[in-house]
Amino acid sequence: MSTIKLHDKYFKTFISAAKIDQAVHKIAALVKKDCKGEIPVFIGILNGSFMFAADFARAYNADCEVSFVKLASYEGTGSTGKVKELVGLSQSLEGRIVVILEDIIDTGNTLEEIFEIFRNQKVKQLKIASLFFKPDVFRKGLPIDYIGISIPDKFIVGYGLDYNGLGRNLADIYQLTTQKMTNIVLFGPPGAGKGTQADVLKEKYNLIHISTGDVFRYNIKNETKLGTLAKSFMDKGDLVPDAVTIDMLKAEVDKNADANGFIFDGFPRTESQAKALDEFLQEKGEAINGMVALEVPEDLLVTRLLKRGETSGRPDDQDESKIRNRFNEYETKTAILKHYYEDQNKYYGVNGVGSIEEITERLSAVFDKL
Ligand code: AMP
Repeated sequence: MSTIKLHDKYFKTFISAAKIDQAVHKIAALVKKDCKGEIPVFIGILNGSFMFAADFARAYNADCEVSFVKLASYEGTGSTGKVKELVGLSQSLEGRIVVILEDIIDTGNTLEEIFEIFRNQKVKQLKIASLFFKPDVFRKGLPIDYIGISIPDKFIVGYGLDYNGLGRNLADIYQLTTQKMTNIVLFGPPGAGKGTQADVLKEKYNLIHISTGDVFRYNIKNETKLGTLAKSFMDKGDLVPDAVTIDMLKAEVDKNADANGFIFDGFPRTESQAKALDEFLQEKGEAINGMVALEVPEDLLVTRLLKRGETSGRPDDQDESKIRNRFNEYETKTAILKHYYEDQNKYYGVNGVGSIEEITERLSAVFDKL
């Protein structure tokens, strides 16, 4: 499962490419049975049906003609109910079996228009095949001969269908999700200033700040079971095992179900933590809006951490070899997360060298966009 952003909206996976493929083959087999001994003309309704028509024609795997017409009826996320124009029908269809290929039928307005246009074509048979169908909103008494997958009344994109031009090239179908929270991963190596900045940003943006390091330290101080477990790893500068950290993080998020969103600081630190976070948020209809990374050279970080160690009381800040081990953990396990979020177009690098106020300003410029 994954969430994507197209223009200003979020979409989550809904129907997999494998399920679509099954539906296309199911329709092709039925049409083939009904067209025995004939060469049918398949007419795809552009733009949405181009992918369906291509896969359908391959799956049909017998003599056929393929043509396209254009009948645009959608703008944005709602049907305007208006069909604008028909272009591209140049051949005679007299005496032929014509199968109209639609990507989706919802209200039936487009379908009605198609029936109107083909009424005078003297075809032998006019059949309608639609990959997706929304029974809840279909308002016409017209026949649909072949239906791939019936779906609830959700706005979908992918496999030919778009949201304001984007999303047609996606292999899976995605549905609109109404994300309510703003969730930001504040990223950077140890000593980058994540905690300092999160303290300011959580107030400014009314977000809950979760620092996994702070939660562990709180548990160590209170000598809980979790604290005892985490201490042995933390004191050496090693990462606490994923299973322990992930469960703890989930519990912290669930404690704040009504939050406007979260600043995650020190989490995720491994790819499996990042995946677990995505899945966990997805179940709630939420997603990470962006990873905002503080970029600071390593030498400066060591100086900062040793200085912090003079007053923080943290054993992992006081010894250069432990600090180096934390960097090593960061380089080998955590730094790759940059690519994880880059691949989702969610990575935002920020120069982390300067005064606290300067850096807050740079971070705010990114937060304002998310
Ligand atoms: P921090 O306060 O973020 O520098 O974290 C201090 C230490 O807590 C780390 O060196 C780890 O031992 C542990 N820790 C914090 N967050 C995580 C995490 N997401 N995964 C594993 N260990 C963590």
